[in-house]
Formats: sequence, C-alpha cells, structure tokens
Amino acid sequence: MRKKVLATAVVALAGMFTSLPAGAVTAGQGAPGVGDPYYPDYGNGGYDVAHYDLRLKYQPADDHLEGTATITATATQDLTRFNLDFALTVSEVLVNNRKATFARSGAHELEITPALPLRRNQPVTVVVRYAGTPSQVTVNGINPWLRTPDGGVAAGEPEGSWWWFPSNDHPSDKATYDVSVLVPDGTQAISNGTLQSAVSRLGWTRYNWRSSKPQATYLTTLAVGRFEIVTDTTESGLPVFSAYSRDLGADEGAAKASVGRAAEILDWETGVFGPYPFDAIGGYVPNVPTGYALETQTRPFYSPRHFRSGANPYVVVHEQAHQWFGDDVSVRTWRDIWLNEGFARYAEWLWSEKEGEGTAAELAAYTYGFYPADNPFWQVRPGDPGAENQFHAAVYNRGAIALQALRGEVGDQTFFKILKSWPVANKYGNARVEDFVAYAGRLAGRPLDDLFRTWLFTAGKPASPPVAANARSAAPTGPLQEPRSWKKIQREGLSDHAEH
Ligand SMILES: [Zn+2]
Repeated sequence: MRKKVLATAVVALAGMFTSLPAGAVTAGQGAPGVGDPYYPDYGNGGYDVAHYDLRLKYQPADDHLEGTATITATATQDLTRFNLDFALTVSEVLVNNRKATFARSGAHELEITPALPLRRNQPVTVVVRYAGTPSQVTVNGINPWLRTPDGGVAAGEPEGSWWWFPSNDHPSDKATYDVSVLVPDGTQAISNGTLQSAVSRLGWTRYNWRSSKPQATYLTTLAVGRFEIVTDTTESGLPVFSAYSRDLGADEGAAKASVGRAAEILDWETGVFGPYPFDAIGGYVPNVPTGYALETQTRPFYSPRHFRSGANPYVVVHEQAHQWFGDDVSVRTWRDIWLNEGFARYAEWLWSEKEGEGTAAELAAYTYGFYPADNPFWQVRPGDPGAENQFHAAVYNRGAIALQALRGEVGDQTFFKILKSWPVANKYGNARVEDFVAYAGRLAGRPLDDLFRTWLFTAGKPASPPVAANARSAAPTGPLQEPRSWKKIQREGLSDHAEH
C-alpha cells in the first residue's frame, strides 16, 4: 500500500527499470523486481497490493503448510503478465475469478498470466492455492523458516514471506492483512495485530489475526507452537498480547522480565517518539536456537538467547522503537536501512540515559573511541552500506553516533522535535536517508548535509567525535569510562539480525 507516491519517486523508479538488462521488462509484463539497488529481483513491478487474506492450515508434527492467499491489488500499468515472490508449491492461481496460467522463474518468482489482460488502474483479485514444507525449501542458500520442536516460525529480513505466502515482497508495497491459521488443539498460532477470534472444532483451532494498518511483507510474522499467552493493556488502553514458548527452560524468567515490560517501555517510547502508530503491542519468544530479534509489526520476535544472561529490556526498547522507525516509516529501498537501525540503536542509548546507565553522549564518545581508526568498522558507510553489510555493527553504532552528532548540532529541543515529527510526517509511508537529511535541515533552519556526509556517507573514522551544543548533550571530558549499559547494548546489538 503506497500511501505517498511522489512524482519524483515514480521517475526515479522508471529510471531504475531502464538500467535492467535488455528484455527484462517487456511491454505488458510486470517487472520481476521493484528496482531495489541491493536486491534487484525483490518485489515486483506493475501492481500495488492493498490487502492479503491468508487462510492457512499448519501441522506442527511434520511442518506441512497448506493454504489459500487472496490478494487484492491495483494494476499500475497494463499487464499481460505479472509476478509474485514465492517458494512453496502452487497448485492453482485465479485472477479476477478466472483460472490463470503460471510458471516458475528465477530463484523465487511466480509468473502469472491472467486469462484476460489487466488494464492500468484496474482492481485485481488474485487467489493462489499452495502447499509445502517450509523448512525443506532453501532459496539462494537462505531459509529463515525456523523449525521448532513444537512448530515453526516465520521471521526473516530482508526476505521471509516466500516460505509461507505469495507476495510483492518489498517494503515499498505495504498492505493490510488478515491471517487465519488452523492448528491442532493445544497449539497456538501467533501473528501480527489483534486476535479477532479463536474457534475450536473437531480437534483443530482456527486463529484469526488482523493487521489493519499498512504492513511490510517482512514485518508480517507467523509462529505456531505451544505458547503461554499473556494479555494486558497499556496505560493508554492499547491491547498487549505476548507469547512465551512452554519450552524456554531456564530462560523463561528473564524472557518474561523483559518482554513483560513491553507496555511500560512502549509508554516511555510514546513520550519520546510521539503517538504509537498501531493498534496493538506485545512480543513472542519461541523455542528457537537463533540469536536475532526482529521488529515484526506490533509483535516483535525474540530469541531465547537474548535472555540467557538475565533480563534484557534493551532488546525490547530496540524492537519497539522500530515500530516508529522501520515499520511506520519504512525504507524506500534496502539501501535506507540506517533509517531503521541507527534510530533503534539510538533509542537504546536514550533508554540508558533515562535509566542512569550512561548518557547518549557518553555512549557516542565511548563508541567513537572503542573502534580504532584502522578497524574495518569505519569503512562501512551507514548511509549506503551495501547488501553484504546491511546489518553490520557500523549501521547500528556509527549510525547512532550520527544521531548524537545531529543532537549536538541542533540542540535537544530541535532534536527531539525532529524525532517526534518525522514519523508523523511520513506516517505509514516510505522514506530515503536523503529525505531525513533534508527534513532535519528544514526543522533546524539550515542545511545539515555536511554533518550527515561525515557520519553516514564517508568511509574512514571522522577526525573528532560529535560535538555538543549544550551541557545536557555534552560529551564527557577526561578519560572515557565504559558506560554501564555498554555491554548490555552490545549483547543485544551483536545478535539483532546482525547475522544476516
Ligand atoms: Zn534493529
């Protein structure tokens, strides 16, 4: 669902298509990618999805998933053919109620030829029937479907949906969702948004989940397993739904002592980042051996390993901060990943400041000193890190220093105004790093290009740490002491989908 399509963005995308190999885009055929500079074949061209309705059945015993996806979209050009991204086995496709022919191509493309060509601006309904065993499907060496002893979990970035539903798999095309999953009684199915109903019949329970706000494909999650469910409401009345695997063992207490603070942390974040853009919150901790977390919309995914050393509110602060920075305001292309990770890491620094475990200025100064000039860390440019470094520690840590540099430059009042108003100005939309640079400059009343060029776009260690405009954000003087939160944040940071 593209809420804000600017004329300039359309021109830019059109320009990208011309750079594809000759013949890749034929008149009447939707492009096999949206033109992402890092992942050229991710997403598809020629249509805009409004809604996904997923009606699924999952058997935890053998990891068998079957279902029907109904996708409502609008053609953005005349189409004789278009693509979806998907990796499971498809048995039937209908387009506008007529059987369509389909074929596989590339690593994850489903090419669909409707019985009747589609006209530009025409509403389109696509029905895809499919089945498969997600844990046995590997694409380009990747399989983010996490099999657990009691089920399975879909949580991956930048790709995750191919293993459980066909989609236009790119954050530039957000949509609303109804996710309905039938699982054996005694097993729960967790997804995003609000639980509309859970009905048991003949030994199976159907869970009906709804996401009523625009949501990117990679932020759409599914977890099936044996969970303990904890529900609550925030002080502001928002429903909280969290789920903990019944097999967390010794990590259970620390997991609950962290994710159990989701509401408190969200209320604090609302004070810092402005109105919460969605209608639910919570989190889930399945019994997976992974070490990453993911900001799946309204319901972040956490690995038990985050809680092995005790309670870890920092990872909750990080994933929930993404609800504003990444989920509400999403990247235009994956090159813009700093808009997600720089801000989520900086949110941890603000939490540290509030908790008295080290100010953001202290953390920025310590981080600056921590990495010597010859460390490869400084060669990664957070503003354009490259696909291979999309989740490099520099995107997080140098990315957060960039925000501290901005704070020092413009002062606290303007800085926090920028943090609060950026999500409102780009609500449910997409943005580029350059959009933020221009936006911050507008609110500051002067261009800030030099500052961001230094911290985001120039390889090598900047000559000096960020300067401070006032006492509250002042950098410490004298020898640098390790902030008390440093190790806690690094513990979180090293595992925040940094393994990708
Ligand atoms: Zn993150």
